[in-house]
Amino acid sequence: MIRSVYRFEDLSIEHVPEGGVIWEVFCAAYQCGQGSGPQDDQEPAQRWALSHSGATSHNLFRRVVTDHADVMYADAPAAEKERDSLLPR
Ligand SMILES: [Zn+2]
Repeated sequence: MIRSVYRFEDLSIEHVPEGGVIWEVFCAAYQCGQGSGPQDDQEPAQRWALSHSGATSHNLFRRVVTDHADVMYADAPAAEKERDSLLPR
């Protein structure tokens, strides 16, 4: 007989402002595959899409926005709630 023990915890998840937000736009035209590359701001990613569309007439893009998130245990002591992230301080 296999027995399992489960422990349920209250968790929260929050955006980590220090990690910033990464913007990237990919052309979704058939077999194109080009993209803006990761950008620290929305503007250069969108500018790339407009330029690419003007040069190729491709007009469908997939936008990807990523950020960093920190998961914390609700009942952890305050010291443990501090971020142990890999982000530079
Ligand atoms: Zn394209």
